[in-house]
Order: sequence, then C-alpha cells, then structure tokens
Amino acid sequence: MIVELISTGSELLLGDTVNTNVSWLAQELNKLGYTIAHQSVVGDNPKRMAEVFQLASTRADIVISTGGLGPTQGDITRNVLADSIGRPIVFNQEAMDEVKKFFDRVKRTVPDASRREAELPEGANVLHNPVGVAPGVVVEDGDTTYILLPGPPGEMKGMFHDSVVPYLMNRFGSQGVVTSYRYGVYDIREIDLENTLMDLIKNQSNPTIALLIKKGYIEVRITAKADTLEAAHEVLNPWDAIIRERLGARVGRDLTVSMEETLGHVLLEEQSTISTAESCTSGLVGKLLTNVSGSSEYYMGGVISYSNDIKHRVLGVPQDMLDTYGAVS
Ligand code: AMP
Ligand code: MG
Repeated sequence: MIVELISTGSELLLGDTVNTNVSWLAQELNKLGYTIAHQSVVGDNPKRMAEVFQLASTRADIVISTGGLGPTQGDITRNVLADSIGRPIVFNQEAMDEVKKFFDRVKRTVPDASRREAELPEGANVLHNPVGVAPGVVVEDGDTTYILLPGPPGEMKGMFHDSVVPYLMNRFGSQGVVTSYRYGVYDIREIDLENTLMDLIKNQSNPTIALLIKKGYIEVRITAKADTLEAAHEVLNPWDAIIRERLGARVGRDLTVSMEETLGHVLLEEQSTISTAESCTSGLVGKLLTNVSGSSEYYMGGVISYSNDIKHRVLGVPQDMLDTYGAVS
C-alpha cells in the first residue's frame, strides 16, 4: 500500500514550525508495513493545496494530510479536498455530535464558528478526536482513500492511534511489519565502509541497507519487511552476522536503543547509582538520564555548577586549580 503524506500550513513553509508530524507519521506507518512514497508540504493556499491532493491521488492508495481542520477561515483542507474530488461540502451530523461532545466535556456552549468543523465533503466518515475539537475525516474516492488529520501534534497522534490504525486495519488488513537493526560504526571512512559491504548494497531488496553519516560515526541500517516480527528477524539475522564479521570491533552500540537507555540497563544490572555535576551542559546530561522511565532507581541527582564559585564551594574543585587552568581546560 502506497501512502502519501501531505503537511499543510504556511508556517511549515516559512520554517517557523518544524514539521514533526510528518516524521512521526512516517515512522508509525512504516512500522505498520505501509510504504511512504512521497511527502509534500503546502501552504494554506487553496489552488496549490488542491494541486497537491490531485497529484497525490495519481500515485498513492492512501493520502494522509495534517492541518487545516480548525474552525477559522484559514482552515481550508476539508473544502479543498471536496473541490479536488468534485464533491459538495455538506453538513455532517456525526461530526457535529463529536464537536458537541467536546464542548459538553469542557462545559462550554458550541461557538458558531465550530459549525465549520462539521461541514465535510459528501460521503465522508468521521474520526473521533480524543484531545481537541476538530473531528478527523475519511473520504474514499475511486481508488484513493483520503484521511484528514488535525495539525496540533497531540491531537494528530491521539487520533492516529485511536481511530486511524483501527480504520486501516479494518479496511486494508495487516500489511506485515517493517523493522530495522541500526549499528553505530566507528573508525572507518564512508567509502571504505561502502566497499566492505558492497555486495550487500548491490544485492539489496529485502533486507535493504543504508549508510548514514552521523557526528563521529556512521549509522548502518538494515531493514526487513515480513509478515511477522519473527520472520523479519529471520531475514535480518544473516546480514547481521555478515556485518559483525566484516566490521568486527568497529561495530559500536546498537542505535535502536539510546545511549541513556543503554547506560540505564548497565547501572541496573550492576546495581550502581549515578549522579551528575555539570557545567556547560547545565543539566542536559541529567535531563537525558531522567528521560528514561525507571531512572529514579539509579539516578540520585545533580549539581549545575555553572560559576567557578559553585564548582569550588559545592563540588570542592580546588580554587588554585581553577585559577591555574581555568574552568574550560
Ligand atoms: P492547524 O490544525 O493547521 O490549525 O495547525 C495548528 C497548529 O498545529 C499549528 O499552529 C502548528 O503549531 C501545529 N502544526 C501544524 N502542522 C504541523 C506539523 N506538520 N508539524 C508540527 N506541528 C504542526
Ligand atoms: Mg494550519
């Protein structure tokens, strides 16, 4: 199943808002076995948005957009879709019930403007919004299924999990799973790494292999698609063995697990605890460590010792050492 993602909103084109929706959706859909063939970003301009929807319908089975479902005049996605598939906009009672339910929950009356959120292309189905007001929209037209989701990331994610995944499963069935092994490879130039793995790179289909330059290492990623996770691992394991044999100690940590999670596992295993004393990073290391759930088992706390005075008085760094070498030494 080919999916095209359309991100709407002029703020995305201006660079004011980072397009986090598209990377999140791409990851979730890939895990479910869908193929993302194209991603488009378009501003809140009806003509350009219609062009993007029309082009997407020629090359994707499922078109998923985010943004532009609110109650204001600038929220045009529902109308643009209706125009581009030649359907009228009609009042949808189910959508209105969703809108009403939201305002009942927050004990407010429905503002007039919110009626717009219940005006959908004819024949549309409604997706429940577990976080905000605007219901999502599904329209099947010819060979193409359109799914319109709200822009705010929390609403988009809630709706995706609660409504879109069950809808896709029901409508299209399981697409299998896609999974990757990701290695941090150190101490080798990209060109040499490519030569070492050239036969895999040239013969890839399932699994596929990618080399991605990162800061201080190269990520090697192998990805398999199969009916089940176990079957995907069976596809990946022979390549895993080849990569480890050829690269030996150059293969560093497993990138599917973050550095802070890896450290957390080690500390739990060794029943050790950790504290931080940070200068330049001002708490960043502590923040990363405590992003891991269960980190209170091993993280005791930290001191942000930004000034030399605190380094000396709280942490006991000798004053003459600071005087002689400076704090950044
Ligand atoms: P909208 O539903 O188009 O009114 O968008 C509402 C808000 O959601 C915007 O102001 C952005 O802050 C956020 N938003 C919209 N699209 C995206 C996106 N692709 N990635 C991240 N945030 C977004
Ligand atoms: Mg918008």
